[in-house]
Amino acid sequence: MSREDPDSAALAHALAAADRGYAVIPLTRGKLPAIRSPHHGQSGSPPCRGECGRLGHGVHDARTDPFEVRRMFAAAPWATGYGIACGVPPHHLIGLDLDTKNGADGLTALQFLAQQHHFPVPPTISVLTPSGGRHLWLTGPPAPPVPNSVGRLAPGIDVRGAGGYLVGPGSLTTRGRYVLAPGAPSRPAPVPRALLALLTPPPPSALRGVRPDAPSHPAAALIRFVRTSPTGQRNARLFWAACRAHEDGLVHELAARLIEAARHTGLSEREARATIASAARR
Ligand SMILES: [Zn+2]
Repeated sequence: MSREDPDSAALAHALAAADRGYAVIPLTRGKLPAIRSPHHGQSGSPPCRGECGRLGHGVHDARTDPFEVRRMFAAAPWATGYGIACGVPPHHLIGLDLDTKNGADGLTALQFLAQQHHFPVPPTISVLTPSGGRHLWLTGPPAPPVPNSVGRLAPGIDVRGAGGYLVGPGSLTTRGRYVLAPGAPSRPAPVPRALLALLTPPPPSALRGVRPDAPSHPAAALIRFVRTSPTGQRNARLFWAACRAHEDGLVHELAARLIEAARHTGLSEREARATIASAARR
């Protein structure tokens, strides 16, 4: 088998990740755990998470020991990628999966959250996905566990936490290859405290007294977000804010203020109107 085979490349990438302390499992081209469950068709309760000593328990198989990593890839020679387990020592990794589909734009949504909740988006390991999105890797504390979620933090942001995994850079999938973003730091940054608070759901008692109809994107926050756009983000932020205003049925009310805020950043009125109109057509 030559070194150019996808499976040996995946093993090499997985071994390199394991060497840096990331627990890995082999993945299929479809980004699923590559080793089949030995309990197929059985309904054990509680479900086996590897206590039986065999392989095939998804992310529960994840290991950093190079001997174990080689053993897993030998059991799944069809693997073309690898997954990195989140929420386990030593890194207690939290993955932010920032999507760019359907006007969601997870990166802009994260920047809005950062401004609204006063936390920095730290420079950290960033992996580019074949669909144009990116994964930001952060390290968390050992407790409390960060749950997995899809679009709960904001549209366009999925969270990989305890029991989840991230597709490792170098993995080949049906959509293409995952690669490290050029110039990104080589170590994950600690999760900002205010972001961690958003990622860990409050105990049920803390939810009492929260008005369920409170808008998630208050008008003033949307306007401020547009008004403080760095040059490279002016159109993305205006488009994102206009999409949120549309969702809340506020765009007619807010259009003039959005345009004024965009002009403050240096966009022309024409450009601003065109961006808001394209948000309406989304
Ligand atoms: Zn088992």
